[in-house]
Amino acid sequence: MDARPRCQATKADGTPCQAAALPGRDTCLFHSPDRKATCAAGRKAGGRTSRRVTAVLPKDAPDLPLATMADVRAMLAAAINLTLKGRLDPRVSNAAGYLAAALVRAIQGDELAKWVEALEAAANWMQTTHGYHRGGNGRR
Ligand SMILES: [Zn+2]
Repeated sequence: MDARPRCQATKADGTPCQAAALPGRDTCLFHSPDRKATCAAGRKAGGRTSRRVTAVLPKDAPDLPLATMADVRAMLAAAINLTLKGRLDPRVSNAAGYLAAALVRAIQGDELAKWVEALEAAANWMQTTHGYHRGGNGRR
C-alpha cells in the first residue's frame, strides 16, 4: 500500500526501524542525522537539558511535504512515536494533531464542512417551515 521507502536505521534493540523514511532521505524523522546532532548538542550542554526543555524537532529539520493523506499519516505516525518516547513535547504533538485535522479537511475538499452546511440548511428549513426551534444555543 505505502510505497514510501522504509527507514534504513536500526533500533536500539537491533531490529530494523520500519518507519517511513523522510522524503529524499534514507531515515525516518526519529533517525534523521540532523536530529541526532541536535540531541548530542543538547546532551553536551549538560545539566541544563532537563525535562523542562520543550522537546521539539530541530530547527533545521527538513519540512514535511504534507500534501497527501499519506504524508499526513506519516507525520502523525512519527509524531505519535516521538511523543510516546518522550522526544516530542505533548503540547507540540497536540498542536500538530489539531493542524493535521484541519489539513485532512482541506485535503478531503472539506467534506465535513459540506455536511455541516447541509445540516444547517436542513435545520433552518425545519425552523422556517415547521416552527421548529433548535434549543441550547440561545438562537431562537
Ligand atoms: Zn527510523
